[in-house]
Amino acid sequence: MGKLSEKFGSMVFSDAVMREKLPKDVYHSLRQTISEGKDLDINLANAVAHAMKEWAIEKGATHYTHWFQPLTGITAEKHDSFLRPQKDAFGAIEQFSGKRLIKGEPDASSFPSGGLRATFEARGYTAWDPTSYAFVKENTLYIPTAFCSYGGEMLDKKTPLLRSLEALSAQATRVLRLLGQKDVTGVSVNVGAEQEYFLVDKATWEKREDLRICSCTLFGASSPKGQELEDHYFGVIKPRVKAFMEELNEDLWTLGVYASTEHNEVAPSQHELAPVFTLCNLAADQNQLTMEIMKKVADRHGLVCLLHEKPFKGVNGSGKHNNWSLSTNTGSNLFSPGDDPASNLVFLVFLSAVITAVDNYQDLLRISCASPSNDKRLGGEEAPPAIVSMYLGDELTSILECMEAGKKYSGYKKASMQTGVHVLPDFKKDTTDRNRTSPFAFTGNKFEFRMPGSSQSISDVNTVLNAAMAQTLSDFADRLENKKEVAAAARRIVRDAYHDHKRIVFNGNNYSSEWVAEAEKRGLYNLPTAADAIPLLIKDKNVALFANTGIFSHAELRSRCEIMQENYVKVISIEALTMLDMAKVQILPALLKHLSFLCDLQTKTGALHLDCGDVGTVSAAENVKELSACLEDLGKKHAALKNVADVGKASVFCKDELLPAMARLRSIADKAEKETPADLWPMPTYKELLFNV
Ligand code: ADP
Ligand code: MG
Repeated sequence: MGKLSEKFGSMVFSDAVMREKLPKDVYHSLRQTISEGKDLDINLANAVAHAMKEWAIEKGATHYTHWFQPLTGITAEKHDSFLRPQKDAFGAIEQFSGKRLIKGEPDASSFPSGGLRATFEARGYTAWDPTSYAFVKENTLYIPTAFCSYGGEMLDKKTPLLRSLEALSAQATRVLRLLGQKDVTGVSVNVGAEQEYFLVDKATWEKREDLRICSCTLFGASSPKGQELEDHYFGVIKPRVKAFMEELNEDLWTLGVYASTEHNEVAPSQHELAPVFTLCNLAADQNQLTMEIMKKVADRHGLVCLLHEKPFKGVNGSGKHNNWSLSTNTGSNLFSPGDDPASNLVFLVFLSAVITAVDNYQDLLRISCASPSNDKRLGGEEAPPAIVSMYLGDELTSILECMEAGKKYSGYKKASMQTGVHVLPDFKKDTTDRNRTSPFAFTGNKFEFRMPGSSQSISDVNTVLNAAMAQTLSDFADRLENKKEVAAAARRIVRDAYHDHKRIVFNGNNYSSEWVAEAEKRGLYNLPTAADAIPLLIKDKNVALFANTGIFSHAELRSRCEIMQENYVKVISIEALTMLDMAKVQILPALLKHLSFLCDLQTKTGALHLDCGDVGTVSAAENVKELSACLEDLGKKHAALKNVADVGKASVFCKDELLPAMARLRSIADKAEKETPADLWPMPTYKELLFNV
């Protein structure tokens, strides 16, 4: 690999490339279109398309694709060749027009639409998103696009995100200008998504039907050693993993993803990759790309990258920490408290807006991370609970408490950290510690939302965050408008916001059971499963939020609700079927073999007049009996699911009937695993899966 900085972004049609390849006036019009959110002109598109094609061909591209993010949560692409037949002569030429750049027409009928359209209404459009860079990968030019139906309904995750960014920018700018920052013309959102994942050996993975089909284990007794020694976190990275990470970094760097931090995570075989934060829309695209490349690179190393939120029971699951902040076009971070946060009115107003937004839309934040796989993680080992709350730290909490009480804040002194060793430097401590247990923590100059699951697109959480902020800031701006004493009005807003919404602030241990009781007392939502959370999407206040911010119509919201419920039911149904299959054809035969071996042994030892007790025969027989009973029960319940016509009711049936039946089947199988000789057990165990790379 050559010099790193030269490789970085070499396959991206970035701003620098555009500046170099486009005629000056075209480049400037394009920049203006992007920064001012203007409509795209076809002549401009033609010029960009030409330059893009020439550049892509230089990079080895033969095809191009509109790359989009349907509601499946992953990306979709349909490749077309640049080649077109030559007019009036045999031969071909490479061609790519503005029309092809700005509009694509993939068949939309097989993507989830939640009843928004019938299968025969097949037409769907993709539209170029000029705010995210095109790139070349595997000899194909990838053009980030939004995806909608013939009737104009959104069928993707990018369009709502872009709308939420526009709404937030408009309202944040309004507030800042009212607060006297007249030079601000736009506010953008920065996001850094930390990505956790597991790596397992591919040959071992192949022998587990549950991992292959459901991406998580559905059976498996815990390994004698798990994460209790805490020896994996930040531990030395093993050579095979190191080689994977190096190749992953190189691939990501050429695609312009600033993969920067990597380390071992808490669970054995668990790791994390953190990119340097970037603009929200770009961060969402790049996170999709990162997940895809992780899987591909792992495969080249004989590994499988598991992005599932809870591949293994009893050890940590994987999340995706969404670090989120706002910055103005003039370059200041609105969540930066500065040296004297108590007098930093702009900071306090924006902080109060976050507190208000998170409290008012707790349910939406929870829904934005709701999936059957994330349900297995939330509230489990070292994962935030399903209750949304905020961590502010001591200093900010004290400032807000003083403002609410009308008292003067006397200030916090930065204490020195003394290591007690002369050669080590002394340094100033931060004014507040961190809280790893909080789902929504203030971490210095950004907020870190830790509920999202590792396999999820970050578009949904950011759409909700941005929309909730846009609405809150719009209310603040209304209150600031036409006020003579703007600073006093702003202070009142901060005081009222804290007074009305302080119940969402919790600086203690979110993993404790006392917090669950306390949260209930405070009237906070506790939505342990996706089935509980999803129906709240279409509550009146949420419908109003998305209508006011111009993000979703009522029909679109209803369809998204239905898609989420459908997905919940499908995932759990597939898991139930996989369990039934594994239990019937793998586990039960193994138990029977073992039982028959024990019975033989008992007969033989009896004949020899050796007193060996029942050598485990009774327990083995009971395991067979119980496993068969659980199998029958789950089979019946799964069959009954078909008779539940309504998707909302079906999701409740899955939660109340199927999941408990699955848990019972698992617990008897896991008990039996511990009592069955290793050579009879029909699949690799947790020990082999977690300590094999
Ligand atoms: P922490 O120690 O809080 O985990 P890091 O510096 O390791 O913080 O950053 C974690 C993630 O947060 C990285 O992806 C980083 O780029 C991102 N990040 C840092 N500052 C900001 C910011 N102002 N806005 C959004 N994301 C940020
Ligand atoms: Mg973090």
